[in-house]
Amino acid sequence: MKKNSQTALIHAPRKAPQYISTVQPPLFRASTIIFDNTDALFNRHWTDRYDYSYGTHGTPTTFTLGDNIAQIEGGTYSLLAPSGLSAINLVNSCFLSQGDEVWVADNIYGPNMEHLRNLQKRYGIHVKVYNPIDASTFQPTDKAKLIWLEAAGSVTLEFPDLTSLVQKAQAHHMLTALDNTWGAGLAFNAFDFGAAHLSVDITVHALTKYPSGGGDILMGSVVTRDETLHHQLFRMHAIQGISISGDDAAQVQRSLASMQIRYEHQSQSALQLLEWLKQQPEFSQVLHPADEASAGHQHWKEICTQQHSAGLVSVIFDPQYNLQDIRTFCDALKLFKLGFSWGGPVSLVMLYNLKDMRALEHSHLKAGLLVRFCIGLEHPADLIQDIENALQHLNKPQLE
Ligand SMILES: *Cc1c(COP(=O)(O)O)cnc(C)c1O
Repeated sequence: MKKNSQTALIHAPRKAPQYISTVQPPLFRASTIIFDNTDALFNRHWTDRYDYSYGTHGTPTTFTLGDNIAQIEGGTYSLLAPSGLSAINLVNSCFLSQGDEVWVADNIYGPNMEHLRNLQKRYGIHVKVYNPIDASTFQPTDKAKLIWLEAAGSVTLEFPDLTSLVQKAQAHHMLTALDNTWGAGLAFNAFDFGAAHLSVDITVHALTKYPSGGGDILMGSVVTRDETLHHQLFRMHAIQGISISGDDAAQVQRSLASMQIRYEHQSQSALQLLEWLKQQPEFSQVLHPADEASAGHQHWKEICTQQHSAGLVSVIFDPQYNLQDIRTFCDALKLFKLGFSWGGPVSLVMLYNLKDMRALEHSHLKAGLLVRFCIGLEHPADLIQDIENALQHLNKPQLE
C-alpha cells in the first residue's frame, strides 16, 4: 500500500533492531504500549511485574532501573516515583488509615513530618514523635501501624539505635520503613544489618541524591523484600497514577555505574572536612556520625561496617554569631553554592534554625545556628580553603 507522506512519516519503514548490544540499555518512552493483537490485549495482567500494558505501570526502562535500585539496597521489589517525597507519600497513603498511630523520629526528613501532620489533621492519623537517640521514647500502643526510621537523621545527623527500634517495632507487629537516602544502600544493608541480621520492611530512597548524582533529576523509590507488601504498594502506585519519565529513568540508570565510587569519595572528603572543621573556634559543635562525639556514633560504627557515610557535615556556630553573621558567611562561600539537596557534583551549603525544626528537647545539641555542608566532587583541600576564606568575613569577637 502506498502511503501518503504524512502517514509514511508516522509509520516509518525502519524498525529499531532488537539484537544489537549497547553499553546502556535501550530507552523506552511510553504512554501507549501497542498490543500485538486482541488476544494479547484480553490476556494482559497489568499487576504482573513485567506485563507491559500502559506507560504508568512500567516499561523495560523503568523496570531495569527499579531492579538495580532494589539490588543496591539489598531488597527484591521496587517501585519508582517522581520524587523522594512522592515515594514517602506512597508508603504513608498505602499503609496508614484513620485511627492508626505512626511513629516518626524527630530528625526525620522535614517534609515527611509535614506530610504526616497533614494526614493527622485531615484523616485522624495519630503522629507520635520519638527521640532518635533514645529508643525508650518509642512507646507504641496497640494502634501503632508504622514507624519511620532514618539513619543518619536529616540535618543533625544522629545515627539511631536501629537494632532496638526495629526489634521493638517487630514485637508490636508494626511495619518498619526506613528513609535510606543517607546510606543509599551503600553504607549499610537495610534488609540485613547489625549482629542480629535485622531487616526493615520497606526502604524509601530519594534517587534525586546519589543515584542521580547530577543535581538535575528528581526521583524516588520504594523497595521491599516482601511480595505481599510490594503488591499493596504496587496497587496504590497504580491507582494514584504515580509514574516517572523514561528519559529520567535512563539518566539515573546511566549514573548508577559510578554511584559507589562517588559515594565513597564523598564519604572520604567529608571526613577530611570533619577533622578540619573540628579545629575551628567559630564552631561550637560539628555533627557527623563518624565523629566520636556525635550522638549515635557507636550505632553507626556497628551498623555501617565499612565505616562509610554520606558526604554531609553540619556545624553549629558559636552562639555569639547571629543570623546576619551566618548569612555573611554563606554568601562569602564561592565553591559551596546555596541550595537544597545533596549527592551531586557541586558542594552545597544550607543554613537552619534548629529551634524551629524539632518537636522535642535535644540536650546533645548546642544552642546556635546550624549550617549543613553537602560535599560534592571538588577536591577537599579547595573546599576547606573556601570555608576558611568565608570565615575571614566574620567580625571575629574574642574567641578563647
Ligand atoms: C531529599 C530527600 C528526600 C526527598 O527527595 P526529593 O526527591 O527531593 O523529594 C527524602 N528523604 C531524604 C532523607 C532526603 O534527603
